[in-house]
Amino acid sequence: MSRLGALPAKVDLLVVGGGITGAGIFREAARAGVSVLLVEARDYASGTSSWSSKLVHGGLRYLKTGEWRLTAESVHERERLLREAPDLVRPLDFVMPLYRGIKPGKTTMRLGLWLYDRFSRGGARSRFLPATDASAVQPGLRAERLLGAVRYQDAYTDDCRLVWRLIDQGQRDGGRALNYVAAEQLLQARDRVCGAALRDAETGESREIEAGLVINAAGVWADTLPGQPAGAPRLRPLRGSHLLFPQARLPLPQAVGWLHPRDRRPVFAYPWQGATLLGTTDLDHREDLWSPRMQRAEADYLLEALDWLLPSAGLVLTDALSSYAGVRPVVDDGADKPSAASRESAQWASPGFIGVTGGKLTTFRVTARQALRAAAQQLPALRLAADSAPLFDRPAQESPGETPDLAQIRARVGEQVFHLDDLLLRRSRAGLVLPEAAEALIEPTLAACQTQLGWDAERCAAEAGRYRDYWRRQHDPRGLA
Ligand SMILES: Cc1cc2nc3c(=O)[nH]c(=O)nc-3n(C[C@H](O)[C@H](O)[C@H](O)COP(=O)(O)OP(=O)(O)OC[C@H]3O[C@@H](n4cnc5c(N)ncnc54)[C@H](O)[C@@H]3O)c2cc1C
Repeated sequence: MSRLGALPAKVDLLVVGGGITGAGIFREAARAGVSVLLVEARDYASGTSSWSSKLVHGGLRYLKTGEWRLTAESVHERERLLREAPDLVRPLDFVMPLYRGIKPGKTTMRLGLWLYDRFSRGGARSRFLPATDASAVQPGLRAERLLGAVRYQDAYTDDCRLVWRLIDQGQRDGGRALNYVAAEQLLQARDRVCGAALRDAETGESREIEAGLVINAAGVWADTLPGQPAGAPRLRPLRGSHLLFPQARLPLPQAVGWLHPRDRRPVFAYPWQGATLLGTTDLDHREDLWSPRMQRAEADYLLEALDWLLPSAGLVLTDALSSYAGVRPVVDDGADKPSAASRESAQWASPGFIGVTGGKLTTFRVTARQALRAAAQQLPALRLAADSAPLFDRPAQESPGETPDLAQIRARVGEQVFHLDDLLLRRSRAGLVLPEAAEALIEPTLAACQTQLGWDAERCAAEAGRYRDYWRRQHDPRGLA
């Protein structure tokens, strides 16, 4: 029977969108005593949630804009994820060099970090390093006017793996999740949302499903979901882009964060999956939402920042392994600069419907539980688990910091994979962090798909073509316009 054909006529809850927000809602709903279906138009996490900076962080910079509640909440969630998913969310030491005559000064930074430490309730983790120690922990730092550095701790993850773990856990708890299935149109009867028309992008099959409640968790697409009631906030899509370099060209012992010399925006670089990640930009995105791409000016901006901090690194764009861009679902609060726009989530409701967008990867659990608390008012059978209930019921073998290899990819072929790019860009990040788009792994990966998924030679050739074309369009740093 087809995937859509196997669905029941009605579910209690339909979640639209398989990014971190939808996956978090799905995971919590699946253990809340209701039947839940999640549909994702493309692959899980393929929207914004695979293209973040991968930091599970308190957001030190939000202290500057007075968003204390957001920082405290984010630090709390970071600590919880470090405890509950230690395989997937790992501590990350940050060094932030300080320079004489350049803000922020030593006093401001130490005060900010004192607060940051207090929010984590784990005691003091940050400390000040004098200039000689700073240059020792981060060799190559710009020496002119170097005052020292502050050292503190945040965390990092693999955003795609986090989404997948939530989807997987939700399915283990009885929820159903379908990737490559879009909600084409919400259905309404008697002024109430009562379901959706679904379409399977793989087979072209369509059908309608009834739902007691629909949650729109479509991220940056949340204000365009066809057939939804009025009330969605106006979104301000903000693009952020990153470059990945071979670690040998940019070896960093830990993360380094600093302010861009041109506009004083925070930028950072850190070791990730055998490469070094450099990011990020923050610009109004007016192009197509489905295929955001880094632009040449953004790459130049990041390289300029790196050249200022680590002048001897001498990196140029052709050193990069890959580039990627994502679009932040930020609510338009009228801020003049993109970086000043708040990263808080927004929620709206009408009969049979809840919408939720915005927020951060780090705070997905809070956003999900807020949405489900609102859902419970319309769906009394929904009983949210206690806030203290652990997210995952078993440890998993994840390795967000390690270089991907064939064994890892082979072990993930069964994770609802439809295309080669699902495997090489999301279930594993090989296509971003290995040379030449992981070309050396394409044939052996296809061989694993032949054995485990039954792909024939024609399908393998088509998948290889699709992946290479997509990579060239979206991730090739040499082709930036
Ligand atoms: C450059 C950048 C860096 C960031 N860095 C960090 C960071 O380091 N730490 C942090 O905490 N946060 C970070 N964020 C923020 C974080 O990534 C986002 O807030 C989060 O990923 C948004 O998740 P989402 O689920 O709301 O949206 P998405 O991940 O976009 O998910 C929405 C999904 O809905 C699907 N969809 C759309 N329409 C339909 C439909 N009709 N039917 C079915 N499915 C549909 C889309 O395909 C998409 O997959 C960053 C964001 C960006 C862009």
